[in-house]
Amino acid sequence: MIRFDNVSKEYRDNGNSITNALYDITLGVEQGEFVSIVGHSGAGKTTLLKMLLAEESPSTGAVFFEEVDIHGLSNKEIPQLRRRIGTVFQDFKLLPNKTAYENIAFAMEAAGRSDEEIAADVPQALELVDLGDKVWNFPHQLSGGERQRIAIARAIINQPDLLIADEPTGNLDPLNTQDIIDVLRKINELGTTILLTTHNKGVIDDLGKRVITMEGGRIIRDDKHGRYVL
Ligand code: ADP
Repeated sequence: MIRFDNVSKEYRDNGNSITNALYDITLGVEQGEFVSIVGHSGAGKTTLLKMLLAEESPSTGAVFFEEVDIHGLSNKEIPQLRRRIGTVFQDFKLLPNKTAYENIAFAMEAAGRSDEEIAADVPQALELVDLGDKVWNFPHQLSGGERQRIAIARAIINQPDLLIADEPTGNLDPLNTQDIIDVLRKINELGTTILLTTHNKGVIDDLGKRVITMEGGRIIRDDKHGRYVL
C-alpha cells in the first residue's frame, strides 16, 4: 500500500544551513497493517508522515501510495490523495464552536456527502468511539480523551484507507491513552491501515504490532512484533 524507495530529505534554510531529516529510507507497509513509528524528537518521524500527505517532497527517492508516485501528482490530484488518508494529531484540532456531531458532519460536508449520508453515518461513528451520549457536547464540555475520540471519529468518517495518528496520546493520562489505543485497534480490525507515532513505551509494548524505530533520519530497527527499545 505504501512504499518509500531510497527516500532522503534535506531541509535548506535560506540556502545556507542544511538539515538532513531523512537518509535513504526504504520501507513498505501492507494494507491492513498497524505500524508504530518511534524515535526521539528530531528523528524524522513527522517528515516521513508529511511525505505521505504530499506536504513535503523527497530530495531524492520516491514515495508511492497504492502504486501512485505521490510526488508526481498534480496540485489538482493531491486533494484526492488526502481524502484517502485520515489524520489525528496530539492537539485534537476540533472546531471549538461546533458540537461533537457537527465537527464530524463538517468533514462529510467538505467531502460532498449528502445530508442523508451524514445523518446515517455520524451517529454510527460516535458509537464506534463509544461517545453516543456526547453527541451535542461542545469540545470544551469533553475531556481530553473524549475530544481525541471525536477527532478519530472525524478522521475515519469518510472511510480512508489509511489513518495517520501522530502522537495521539501525547496529551492524555494513562487511562485515556488506553481508550484511544483500543479505538485505534478496533478501527484497524475493521480494515483500516494505521500509522502511529508515539513516545509511549507502554502503548508499544501492549500493542504487540510492528514497530519501526528511527534515529537521526534513519530506520535503525523494524520489528514485526516489536517492543520499545530506545
Ligand atoms: P520528529 O517528528 O521525529 O521529531 P522531524 O521530522 O520533525 O522529526 O524532524 C527531523 C529533522 O528535520 C529535525 O532535525 C528537524 O529540526 C528538521 N526539520 C523538520 N522540519 C523542518 C523544516 N521545515 N525546515 C528545516 N528543518 C526541519
